[in-house]
Amino acid sequence: MMKRFSGLLSLLAIVGLLFAGCQSVEKKRKILFVIMDGVPADNIERLHPSTVFEIGDQGHYSRGYCGGKVGQYSQTPTISAVGYNNILTGTWVHKHNVHHNENQQPNYNYWSIFRIAKEQKTDVTTAIYSSWTDNRTMLLGEGKPETGNLKIDYVFDGYDLDYQNFPKRNHDLRIYDIDSTVCERAADCIRTNAPDLNWVYLWYTDDAYHWYGDGAFADEYVLKTDALIGKVWDAVKYREEHFDEEWLVIVLSDHGRDELGYDHGGQSDRARTIWMSTNLSEVNDQFAEPYLSHTDVNPTICKFMGFEIPRDLAFEFDGSSFYGPRDIYALESLNYDNSIILRWKIDQGKGMARVFMCNDNKFATGGKDDWKEVAIVPVTDGECTIELDETDHKLYKFAVQTDNTILNLWHCRHADRPVSPIEYR
Ligand SMILES: [Zn+2]
Repeated sequence: MMKRFSGLLSLLAIVGLLFAGCQSVEKKRKILFVIMDGVPADNIERLHPSTVFEIGDQGHYSRGYCGGKVGQYSQTPTISAVGYNNILTGTWVHKHNVHHNENQQPNYNYWSIFRIAKEQKTDVTTAIYSSWTDNRTMLLGEGKPETGNLKIDYVFDGYDLDYQNFPKRNHDLRIYDIDSTVCERAADCIRTNAPDLNWVYLWYTDDAYHWYGDGAFADEYVLKTDALIGKVWDAVKYREEHFDEEWLVIVLSDHGRDELGYDHGGQSDRARTIWMSTNLSEVNDQFAEPYLSHTDVNPTICKFMGFEIPRDLAFEFDGSSFYGPRDIYALESLNYDNSIILRWKIDQGKGMARVFMCNDNKFATGGKDDWKEVAIVPVTDGECTIELDETDHKLYKFAVQTDNTILNLWHCRHADRPVSPIEYR
């Protein structure tokens, strides 16, 4: 009898262990993304700095693009703050509305990833470590009514405005001093507090290129900045070793540069080319040229963290997640008389594609768009034709939704057609 009882006890112990084992599988997920300003992809690949590529070796490294689609409604300047906001909102400039580094007027209706985090039902803690204070006050719009009085839990910035502790130096090297402090603060905060969503912004690399273009000076500061990022990456590794946490780390650039490396802003191949390094081992084919872009970062973070997003906001993302299954990609539209043909490429030929359309853009001004489902076709069709009514709208917004993917597209038509060919002579 006693023997049987002890047998039952050990069985219970095994069940208990198994249960504990299952629980530890569910690690707490956390995010770190780092923007390394203005380092061209060819240079990061040539220098192969140890931190960026240790992260990439754990997961993946790829080139991608910024700048939207050239010559189309989404063309976007290859400028710093513009690039950060592509990343933060998952949209291009025609939506987020940050055209320059100065006098920024973000359209806060396109929520930043920080706003999305704070709109979740569960508490998501957020942190910014930034060499440029505008990133919090302007781009994220902390405390503004238009951002729902967004609050960020851990803030390490303001150093760029502090000339006492960060006095002027030759070559504007005070900015590099600030980057160093930012990385120390980030490493400390991640080790001790491990906020759920962390953004590190580092500025000096861009300055180094503005001083001397491509060459030894910029190389030196790319490597030094990589070493700074190494401290933050060490803090992430420390957390994963000692806590039940799983971190998604993304390091990326905000734009490339012109041919000599001094400047940026235009639409040359080199200026439009960015790079991204992630420790995520399982990425889908979105994480590859020519599809990977700034606008994929926000949807990827949302999917990794399991964030819930209002449908109308999800319908505005210009990118798509490189984490998790991707059903379709490369959505495009063609005009044909009084119809629009939508075409997409297929990853997984399962399920149905639901096509939604609206002719308005009330979302941009805080209103609600009147999305109508205009077609349901098998994903494998790869296309569908939408017959239009007599009203000639200037803008048709489309969203194609499958089991795992939502793609968004604007189709612009001119209300003043037909125009006599004579006008084109
Ligand atoms: Zn920049």
